[in-house]
Amino acid sequence: MTEKNVSENFITQIIDADLASGKHAQVHTRFPPEPNGFLHVGHVKSICLNFGLAEDYQGQCNLRFDDTNPDKESVEYAQAIQKDVEWLGFKWSDKVLYTSDNFDQLYGYAEELINKGLAFVDEQSPEQIRETRGDFTTPGTNSPFRDRPSEESLDFFRRMRAGEFADGAMVLRAKIDMQSGNLNMRDPIIYRIKRQHHIRTGDKWCIYPMYDFSHCISDALEGITHSVCTLEFADHKPLYDWVLDNITIDCHPQQIEFNRLNQTFTITSKRKLNELVEQGVVDGWDDPRMPTVSGMRRRGYTPTSIREYAKKSTVTKKPSIIPMSMLEDCVRQELNASSPRIMGVLNPLKLVIENYPEGQSEMITAKNHPMDESFGTRELPFGRELYIEADDYKEGANRKFFRFTEGREVRLRYAYYLTCQRAIKDENGNVIELRCTYDPETKGGSSPDGRKVKGTIHWVSAQHADDVELRLYDRLFNVVSPKGMDDLNPESLLVLNNAKLEPGIIEHSNDVQYQFERMGYFYRDKTHETDKPIFNRIVNLRDSWAKQEQQ
Ligand code: ATP
Ligand code: MG
Repeated sequence: MTEKNVSENFITQIIDADLASGKHAQVHTRFPPEPNGFLHVGHVKSICLNFGLAEDYQGQCNLRFDDTNPDKESVEYAQAIQKDVEWLGFKWSDKVLYTSDNFDQLYGYAEELINKGLAFVDEQSPEQIRETRGDFTTPGTNSPFRDRPSEESLDFFRRMRAGEFADGAMVLRAKIDMQSGNLNMRDPIIYRIKRQHHIRTGDKWCIYPMYDFSHCISDALEGITHSVCTLEFADHKPLYDWVLDNITIDCHPQQIEFNRLNQTFTITSKRKLNELVEQGVVDGWDDPRMPTVSGMRRRGYTPTSIREYAKKSTVTKKPSIIPMSMLEDCVRQELNASSPRIMGVLNPLKLVIENYPEGQSEMITAKNHPMDESFGTRELPFGRELYIEADDYKEGANRKFFRFTEGREVRLRYAYYLTCQRAIKDENGNVIELRCTYDPETKGGSSPDGRKVKGTIHWVSAQHADDVELRLYDRLFNVVSPKGMDDLNPESLLVLNNAKLEPGIIEHSNDVQYQFERMGYFYRDKTHETDKPIFNRIVNLRDSWAKQEQQ
């Protein structure tokens, strides 16, 4: 049996019962994004749940754009969303669907409600409607237009559609109950006038249906069995059911609410993420620090690790917040098994081997994966001049520092034992070069006399190394529950433009997640490359933020 996408939860229990009782023969879900921004990690949970359930039960899942708010929506957003869903590895049944495909039918159902005396055209101003709605403690009051004859409402509604009235001059409202304890049931607006070009219907319509009216009907028209949504829609469920109970339609999907994904150090709101893009504090929706699917893709996260994370974020009725480190752990765990190892130096310090003949070089055999032989080996050039990591040398270090200090012997990964003789400094006292000697008997990294060294460091040949730019990322926000701009981490991006990479990598680096030994996982990013290759650090080897998350 193949592994399930979705772990058992209260929704799978509902589905199991519905299939067992014969209520449904097949599962049909949908993912209904509004094309007003890019998908983020929160949406991933909903995608993995809706598409995952359909896959697990051999049913179907629709991708339906909820395009009823034309002023914020764009074709580019819709395309980006499709790309993201496909990249995550899911397939929608049928063609891509749009709520706007149903505009004619939705209009017809609105007329049906009017004819039944269950909807009316309200000419009150938006302010008056708001003021008479009441609040949690005060009941609402009826609109003076509530009891106008159906024929009159129908006539006005048709003229609304025909464009006879200004935007906001009137609305169509369902006639339910202004005394209801549920504010959503207090004669909710179901249509409004809005002269706004629509991405699909152009200027055909100047009235648009509201979400609560169009969503349930679209679900029913598509034959959705389980309409899975986040908890904030629980209060809308009575309206969802009311609409479907009062129109002529032979399908009534079950709305089921689950807990949204909230993540530490992360904002999961398209509106707030859009602000970061608009203000230019990030490099677009796909900035590798963004919690968007496109950002995670550009950074080098894999679809499988993101799906694994979604699977771990349990589906319940209880709000929760998940540590961001859990996502990083999923990425790290996968890459640890799947990434070829290479050597790259982030902050290079020149090292000269004084007893290594000038002009000579040789090849060193290195393993591509220390735990997995199937990755094979590669040959690395080694010579008199190398680069090592600047902080692998420390002047006057104590005995616990196993890397270079005067007189200390250290292993260069897969190569030789080297002993540090002295450091050369510039006029400001900065170390600019290390002078070492090597033991020719230690090739491969062990000594015939059994002599042990404690430290092993990475290196590249100075003559053969490639110049690369590395981008190291930290949390975009530096507080656990960020509210917005004020919580940005000013040090979320560190650019290292003097880094050195072992030769032979760059030309094969497209779409490969590498482990730079000791330094983390890296992924080529061609978005802004000019002449120098750029690599993003996907994640470091160990979690350095775990402590803060526990606060
Ligand atoms: P945002 O506030 O980011 O705009 P949204 O809910 O308005 O989110 P939609 O495009 O309407 O965005 O979302 C599509 C689907 O994704 C909805 O069914 C919604 O419930 C779900 N979704 C959105 N955010 C989350 C989240 N953080 N966790 C789980 N599901 C989510
Ligand atoms: Mg929404």
